[in-house]
Amino acid sequence: MTFSSIRGNLLVKNIIISMVQNNRLAHAQMFYGPEGSAATALALASMQYINCQNKHNLDSCNKCASCIKTSNFGILNTFFCIPLINKGSKFNSAWFTSSIMEWKKLIKQNPYVTAEEWSKKQDPGKQLNIGISQSREIIKYVSLSSHNTEYKFIVIWMSEFMNNNAANALLKIIEEPPRKTIFFFISNNLDKHPPTIISRLQCHHIKPFTALELEQEIISRFSVSAEEAKSISILCAGNMCEAFRMQNSKQCFDNFENFKVFARSAYTQRFSDILNQAETFYSLGRDFQKFFCVYSIKILRAILLIKCNKVQLANVTPEEINFADNVSKTLDFLKIKNMFLQFEELLYEIERNANIKIAFLNTFVNISHIFRGN
Ligand SMILES: [Zn+2]
Repeated sequence: MTFSSIRGNLLVKNIIISMVQNNRLAHAQMFYGPEGSAATALALASMQYINCQNKHNLDSCNKCASCIKTSNFGILNTFFCIPLINKGSKFNSAWFTSSIMEWKKLIKQNPYVTAEEWSKKQDPGKQLNIGISQSREIIKYVSLSSHNTEYKFIVIWMSEFMNNNAANALLKIIEEPPRKTIFFFISNNLDKHPPTIISRLQCHHIKPFTALELEQEIISRFSVSAEEAKSISILCAGNMCEAFRMQNSKQCFDNFENFKVFARSAYTQRFSDILNQAETFYSLGRDFQKFFCVYSIKILRAILLIKCNKVQLANVTPEEINFADNVSKTLDFLKIKNMFLQFEELLYEIERNANIKIAFLNTFVNISHIFRGN
């Protein structure tokens, strides 16, 4: 992975490059940032840069034998340690190897993947853990002498899952690792590490992605309109993993059809239909709920623009214009504004994980009353 393939994070990239060039990179690094940030990607790019045989001032060459080996998660120079479901203190080598292979596959597809996504691949609901058996394997790996001139790396991914025994077992080796050995800790939560570990690490804070960075990455990876990418980037609060997930799941939802059904029952005040829709929309999950709110706001904006004779600014399909035009005849500016506020409030409730079922029902009933002015 190269630095240039990761959006933003210029300051951290420059710090790492400068440290490597001036031989000041400490032998124990920590990349920490919120979920879906570039912490893992930047650690992988740093490893590739350190061992690149043809590095320049901004990046690794991405062509030399070492770059190719590192980008393919070369097992010869890197040991990966990841949170796993606790299966006792005895180290199960075959299970560990197959888990690591599965993890590498996931990270190759998406270097912004979160511990939650990894947990879904394991046994959802069971506690992930980095236990002392993995620390023992690290010590064993580090003690093997390296026969080549490259650096050896130990990557501890989501190191906040490391239990105290595992962390204590590593203190000495982190303090004084053999020559040409670098530890890379990657974490979403610095506070969950013992101070004895943190004090031994050179820490880099990774900020969440900006909305623009998310938007650009979605457009470059997926076949998606700029407007759709913008909507997703606004909903994902800097989390690239969530942006990818939402992009993939949005194709499952027919928002136009859902909005039409909802608007019809709200207008006719068929409360049993409204109740059923609130239940259904709740059951479709958080991604759908957020998309529905954003889509509804988009249609309300189109209705507003139609009333202002500026429909050309609406950026909707001819079918949506036709529908919005019909609805606009039943709404005045105050009603549109009040409906906007209802959807904004609902979006806020979804974001803060409130009681979504009640919030949906409340919003739908309120909108029905606004529609009919009663
Ligand atoms: Zn290279």
